[in-house]
Amino acid sequence: MNPEALTQLARQLDGLSPAQMLTWAAAKFPRQAALASSLGAEDQVLLDMSVKGGLLTKDPKLDLFTLDTGRLFPETIDLLAQSELHYAVQFRVLYPDTAEVETMVASAGINLFRRSPEDRHRCCGVRKVAPLRRALQGKAIWIVGLRSDQTANRADLAPLVWDEANRLLKLSPLLQWSDAEVDAYLDEHQVPRNPLHAQGYPSIGCAPCTRAIVPGEDPRAGRWWWEQESQRECGLHLENGRLVRNH
Ligand code: SF4
Repeated sequence: MNPEALTQLARQLDGLSPAQMLTWAAAKFPRQAALASSLGAEDQVLLDMSVKGGLLTKDPKLDLFTLDTGRLFPETIDLLAQSELHYAVQFRVLYPDTAEVETMVASAGINLFRRSPEDRHRCCGVRKVAPLRRALQGKAIWIVGLRSDQTANRADLAPLVWDEANRLLKLSPLLQWSDAEVDAYLDEHQVPRNPLHAQGYPSIGCAPCTRAIVPGEDPRAGRWWWEQESQRECGLHLENGRLVRNH
C-alpha cells in the first residue's frame, strides 16, 4: 500500500475509541477483517468489545481466530472454551501442519527450542508463523492487542500500519492503553481471563517457553528467558524486520 493511501485510511481513525475502531474495520473490510487472539488480557478486551458491538453474532463481521501451537498451557485452552461459552462465539482454531511438526521433532527433538535460537525460531516458525500465514490468507486487515508500552521499540507504532511480511493492514486499537486500563476494563466488564495472570504471568505463550516473573522484573522477562534479549522474537510481529512484540 502506498504511504499516501495508508495516511488517508489512518486519518479515518482519528478520535475513534477502540470499540469504534473495531466497528470501522468490520465495515471498511467486510469479510476481510480478522481478529487475532492469543487469549491474552488485551485480546480478551477486544473480544468483549467486539461481542458488545455486534461484530461476532451469528453472521460475524470479524473472523475471530487463535493459534493452538500444541504447547499451550491447559489454562489457555480452558480460557478458549470458557470464552466461547461466555460469549456464545466460536474461534477459528488453527493448528500447525502435522507433517511439519513430525519432521521437526524427528530431526531435532520435541524441546528443540532449548538448543539454540535457530532451533527456537524453527519451532515458532512451524507452530506459529506458518499457521498465522494461513489464518491471514484472503484478509485485508488483522486486528491485534498490541500496546505501545509493552516494548521500548514499539513506542512509535501507529494504530494502523502496513504489515509488509503478511501483505495486509494491521490495526492495534489498544495501542495507547496502559496495563491499568486493561485491568480496569476486564474488572468492570467481568471478562474471563487467564488465571495465570494472577500467578505472575503477565504475558502467556507456550508453556515450556513462559515462566512467571517476580515483582519489578520486566513483563517480557518470562518469555524465552534463556535467550539474550535481542534474540527474543517469534516472527509474528515484525515492522520492517524489527521486532514489535513477542507472543
Ligand atoms: Fe515452540 Fe516455544 Fe515458539 Fe511455542 S514459543 S512455538 S514451544 S519455540
